[in-house]
Amino acid sequence: MSSDLELKLYDTLSRDKRTFVPIDPARVRMYVCGPTVYDYAHIGNARPVIVFDVLFRLLRHIYGADHVTYVRNITDVDDKINARAARDFPGLPLNDAIRKVTEKTEQQFHADVDALVCLRPTVEPRATDFVLPRADGKVDMVTLIKQLIARGHAYEAGGEVLFDTTSMPDYGALSGRNLEDQLAGARIAVDAHKKHPSDFVLWKQSTPDEPGWDSPWGRGRPGWHIECSAMSAAYLGEVFDIHGGGLDLIFPHHENEIAQSRCAHGTKVMANYWMHNGFLQVEGEKMSKSLGNFFTIHELLADWPGEVLRLNMLRSHYRQPIDWTVRGLKESSKNWISFGNIVREHMNATAPDQEFLNALADDLNTPVAFARLFELRDLALRGDQSSGQALTASLRFLGFFKNAFSVKMTTSYSPDIKMSPLDFVSNVQNLSGDFEIRDVAEQLSQNLSQAARDFVLKFAVGTTVKKIKSIFPDDASVERLIELDRLRLSARKAKDFKGSDRLRDELANMGIAVKDGKDAKTGELTTSWEVAR
Ligand code: AMP
Ligand code: ZN
Repeated sequence: MSSDLELKLYDTLSRDKRTFVPIDPARVRMYVCGPTVYDYAHIGNARPVIVFDVLFRLLRHIYGADHVTYVRNITDVDDKINARAARDFPGLPLNDAIRKVTEKTEQQFHADVDALVCLRPTVEPRATDFVLPRADGKVDMVTLIKQLIARGHAYEAGGEVLFDTTSMPDYGALSGRNLEDQLAGARIAVDAHKKHPSDFVLWKQSTPDEPGWDSPWGRGRPGWHIECSAMSAAYLGEVFDIHGGGLDLIFPHHENEIAQSRCAHGTKVMANYWMHNGFLQVEGEKMSKSLGNFFTIHELLADWPGEVLRLNMLRSHYRQPIDWTVRGLKESSKNWISFGNIVREHMNATAPDQEFLNALADDLNTPVAFARLFELRDLALRGDQSSGQALTASLRFLGFFKNAFSVKMTTSYSPDIKMSPLDFVSNVQNLSGDFEIRDVAEQLSQNLSQAARDFVLKFAVGTTVKKIKSIFPDDASVERLIELDRLRLSARKAKDFKGSDRLRDELANMGIAVKDGKDAKTGELTTSWEVAR
């Protein structure tokens, strides 16, 4: 142990805040339910990712980086995925279409959460790798279901395997729902094959065109909850320390995970601390596509630096609801910029502030932790060097300003200004220093429109300002390039090769050589541009 911090965590199951005592301090174990990969993750999904990233960092600080295992699964089997695959790739066999949807979404998810400066978990297992018994003997879903049947906790009915909730005396303890309550609201007709309306599906049959695996109960696929029981046991054992996710997962998902895991293994608990983040709403309303206030992480990253989104998320305590507003984001931008101005002077600071750490250790009290950071900022502004040091090390502890580049970004970012592409190019070149210019461009591009961002990433990277300005004397010529490129891409997609060749010639006349290709993984058409020599 490298710290004398006393960590306290609120446990949803016992409904109190307790001192955290790991089962084995040499191997602290945390499981967090991850994304279902069929579409861009929204900013609400970013909340558990950021919150549990902070806890991961704190645990690593207390117990040592090599002594913490963080598992976050990827749900790649789900009826929403099937529907999306059939809609987006109608010509492909369903399984190929599903793979396209899940691989692309997973890549996007990683790009998004990397930009929010979240560490990757120790392991990110995919559900489909844990359906059938495995060569390495790690726990799998089919074996767990067999165990549940053998122990009298599950039964086959109506082509499904169901968990028998009446077989578990304290079913419902996490969410505080008892079986009688659920009887009252049940729709008996629909669930006629169930022994009790709250019994839930462990395995269901698949039609020939649905994804399926051959099992003792016929060709089928798992219910939603069993995957987390399998993957947590596979990597963390039958009983582990912390299990997390958003508030909405308490019932039925986590309740049912507990039932499955405890009954399959014959254990008293599944995890010792159950942690749940509160919900995020947007401008005072529930985020929903129909209200038009639904934002993906990807969209927000086009307008705000990832570190600003992260800071904005951490201003609220994780168990409280958070109201996500543009006003809040602007305030977070200002704070981020003011932090950057101080951090720049103290890049070799190593010791985070003790009061700040104490606040985090108190059930991740980030509002108190930030209040302390604002205090340190004000002291540093009045010239106190040690406050500047403590502030810098504390912010970097939370993942902010991890290199000199992200600090420099604060000097050229303004939440109210969109730069023109050419101003941007000059800026990037000024900033580039010893950084990979692609990195700089990717990170700074929230000051740009999507098209201008393409311009920078496809073209300006790898050349000089002088050269670019010789080809594009003004922003209008950049816009012309972007437009020609857009037209060419649609011509290629429509297989209008004559049209696309004509546009290629027009670009060549501007001094730009176009190279076409295909993304090896997704099969999507790609283009890169070069200065014609
Ligand atoms: P899902 O892909 O819907 O299973 O959600 C992934 C994670 O995001 C889960 O931990 C959810 O609890 C969490 N989540 C979903 N929507 C929100 C929201 N609006 N605010 C906070 N967390 C959310
Ligand atoms: Zn789960």
